[in-house]
Amino acid sequence: MSKPTLVDLIIAARWIIPVVPENTLLTDHAVIINQGEILAILPQSEVDQHYTLSEQGQQFQLDQHAVIPGLINSHSHTPMSLLKGYADDTALQTWLEDHIWPAEGRHVSAEFVRDGSRLAIAEMIKTGTTCFADMYFFPEETAEVCHEAGMRAQVTIPVMDFPTAWGSGPDEYLEKGAGLLETYKNSELVTIGFGPHAPYTVSDDAFKATVALADQWQAPIQTHLHETAFEVDEGIKASGIRPSARLHKLGVLTPATQCVHMTQIDESDIELLLSTGAHVVHCPESNLKLASGFCPVDTLMKAGVNVALATDGSASNNDLDMFSEMRTAALLAKAVSKDAEALSAQQALTMATLNGAKALGISDRVGSLEVGKKADICAIGMSDLALQPIYNPVSQMVYCNNSQNVSHVWINGQTVMSDRALQTLNEAEIIANAQQWGDTIRAGSQEA
Ligand SMILES: [Zn+2]
Repeated sequence: MSKPTLVDLIIAARWIIPVVPENTLLTDHAVIINQGEILAILPQSEVDQHYTLSEQGQQFQLDQHAVIPGLINSHSHTPMSLLKGYADDTALQTWLEDHIWPAEGRHVSAEFVRDGSRLAIAEMIKTGTTCFADMYFFPEETAEVCHEAGMRAQVTIPVMDFPTAWGSGPDEYLEKGAGLLETYKNSELVTIGFGPHAPYTVSDDAFKATVALADQWQAPIQTHLHETAFEVDEGIKASGIRPSARLHKLGVLTPATQCVHMTQIDESDIELLLSTGAHVVHCPESNLKLASGFCPVDTLMKAGVNVALATDGSASNNDLDMFSEMRTAALLAKAVSKDAEALSAQQALTMATLNGAKALGISDRVGSLEVGKKADICAIGMSDLALQPIYNPVSQMVYCNNSQNVSHVWINGQTVMSDRALQTLNEAEIIANAQQWGDTIRAGSQEA
């Protein structure tokens, strides 16, 4: 008999839900990991025969737990975590123009972005997210915090027609973006993409320049699109065609493009999405809170469009909890399609994992627990009273889980949370720092 292979991480759990193959539930299995990569998934009784821990290796025996691929939050504005609860219960345009943009004008800086990203990333790890896509100013700060935290991310370079604290306009944003692409071209964790904000804040020329640079670097593009009926109506008034058609004309829609929101969809939009291979990122709680409209996810998915899931920024949600987002998505899909079979618990989990990885162009590396993929993994303690009895762990996880039950998180094979204790970030410091920012931002709005 051959000697057991040395490995550095073994995660043994009561249930493993790999997402691929679909609808698979493995009982009393273990995930074997070495140097950040999944080597095998096998019954616990067979582990010792084939594998043994290296000297520095760690084994987790999680007998009351379910293990799933780490969740992927496909759209956020992480630094806006510092503005959560700052201006609630107002419509999108008022919210942006009267509250959020003025506050950002007063406070956004490299420091604001660094601290806000740290707060957001800590919250995401604590709620089982192992990868997120971001769109905000000073993206170099967010990217750096990802490395510090061991977090995977697609960080996009914001592009819009007007000046901000980060730059004077599209030319400068894109120039800075090219620098970031160069810095992170070999990063294991951070992918740099482009984030032209929305059709109503980005001119044709700026979109074209973004597409040219994205092509050159093979970089993904993420943009807000068809968030509200107002946006579509105004877009048609300004250019004579739907914003989706305008973006297509400008070459924006490709298999590397993520269209965020898409609450206004007609037949022509579905055709465009299918023919270009562009992805949809669904943000149900943000759409509900801003009364933006409803993305018809059931229709899109049945048509064959890839739909990923996201929280959007904390200021319009107000959290970054992908468990609550899965539940909202599953419930809302049933209401919108008037079909209780729409978006099952398993489909909601796939939307929050594999579909996210596909949208971000990283499904060869993450999004499911499969041999050869990176070990981005989340464990959930299932012994909580509210979860009993358990007939179907995926159903419990989507419909009645509290994300406080997330116990362990690994990213790229690194333990970033163990028994709810963050391993790479200082939670107490992050809380104190967020409270300080709260005081500063409150004082700023009183002076204004
Ligand atoms: Zn957004």
